[in-house]
Amino acid sequence: MKIYNTLTKRVEDFKPNVEGKVAMYTCGPTVYHFAHIGNLRSYLMEDVLEKTLRYSGYDVKRVMNITDVGHLSSDADTGEDKMLKGAKREHKTVMEIAKFYTDAFMSDCAKLNIKTPDVVEPATNCIDEFINMITVLLEKGYAYKAGENIYFDTSKLKEYYVFGNQSENDLMVGVRDDVTEDTNKRNKNDFVLWFTKSKFEDQALKWDSPWGVGYPGWHIECSCISMKHLGEYMDIHCGGVDNIFPHHTNEIAQSESFLGHKWCNYWFHVHHLNDETGKMSKSKGEFLTVSLLEEKGYNPLAYRFFALQSHYRKPLTFSYEALDQATVTYKKLKNKIATIKEEGAVDEAIVKEWHDKFAETVGNDINTAMGITLLYDVLKTDFNGATKRAIIGDYDYVLSLDLLKADTEAANNGADDELTAYVEAKIEERKEAKKAKDFAKADAIRAELLEKGIALEDTREGVKWKRV
Ligand code: AMP
Ligand code: ZN
Repeated sequence: MKIYNTLTKRVEDFKPNVEGKVAMYTCGPTVYHFAHIGNLRSYLMEDVLEKTLRYSGYDVKRVMNITDVGHLSSDADTGEDKMLKGAKREHKTVMEIAKFYTDAFMSDCAKLNIKTPDVVEPATNCIDEFINMITVLLEKGYAYKAGENIYFDTSKLKEYYVFGNQSENDLMVGVRDDVTEDTNKRNKNDFVLWFTKSKFEDQALKWDSPWGVGYPGWHIECSCISMKHLGEYMDIHCGGVDNIFPHHTNEIAQSESFLGHKWCNYWFHVHHLNDETGKMSKSKGEFLTVSLLEEKGYNPLAYRFFALQSHYRKPLTFSYEALDQATVTYKKLKNKIATIKEEGAVDEAIVKEWHDKFAETVGNDINTAMGITLLYDVLKTDFNGATKRAIIGDYDYVLSLDLLKADTEAANNGADDELTAYVEAKIEERKEAKKAKDFAKADAIRAELLEKGIALEDTREGVKWKRV
């Protein structure tokens, strides 16, 4: 398998630390609101990555955090606490908000056939782990106390900008959300590990710590949760491109300082889904959720199909026209598959050959669009129905488009198409028989159709048929 690694900026052969096994981590949602379909593009492509690894024979363990302890909108001690904002908006407690939106997120994922990671861990479960890591960072001299908060000291690192290419804007902490610089920091990119003295006096969730009652900073949870479940070495870490800086940069800074060695080898980042006005957001424009698409009559899997048609390393623009187009193509595809009958015996050698082709195609940096092309190639072959269906089912493990699941509409349409073709061929045959004055044959055809519940009627406009 080959994947693009944001650390090296190259497509690389994938080699896990332990042969045959993959330790994979996904930055999970901040559960203060519904996920929009842009967030879900990231989770969807990460799902394809996980399934492609499994499809290629790897034994994958995937871990995801749930950010249920309110992180601020930036590394500065200003901005907004997202969880608190959600709680105030809905007159609920922070934990009620967290539970509600965690469930909503899981339900959206299920509708998009996104598999639940093997471990899903809320940040509030891991306070001891956070305190332990921060204690070690202080002992090792990578962290300092200022203004009663604990900060990570980025000047202690040989290399902080491990992903390179940060723009000046990115480097200026505080440009996001118009927040001002935190004067406690020794260096502009230092970040908070633990707050005891935040500007938020009404912080809802607080825990005791060696530095006083407070709560963790923004990045610590991913380092600790991944190590808790995957150990000191990780193969792939995923997220959307906005996570590259500062979130993943800071995760690496604190994790590698804590461990004293390299932490994660491959960094997989999904580009954004934009709407026609620009970056999708939860606060401006129409808030595009899976439920909203459903209310408008779309099948969530048509959105999955739409997302799979483009490469994860390219920005993708959402529009209803594009989703309409994807819906039509997806329906046609399912209808076509519904006409393939389970006929003959499965040719296992062919299935294996086409499995390997798919693994190589999609395994080439998660090329889902080429995977779908390969699926159409299967439909064009003259393999028997059982073999075709076996290959389609095999591909659907990764694509997860319910390709063999005959939803009633697809089944009916498929059956209708097939029936119409059959009846029309019989009518043509009967016409030929009559022309040749073979009335016995013509009558036999009429009877044969009637046996199948189809009645023919000779009219002036030609032969008509109906179900009886
Ligand atoms: P959040 O819940 O804001 O922490 O974001 C959840 C995930 O969605 C993160 O991996 C983000 O990088 C990703 N993300 C945020 N906005 C978009 C977008 N417009 N398109 C794709 N992924 C996004
Ligand atoms: Zn993270």
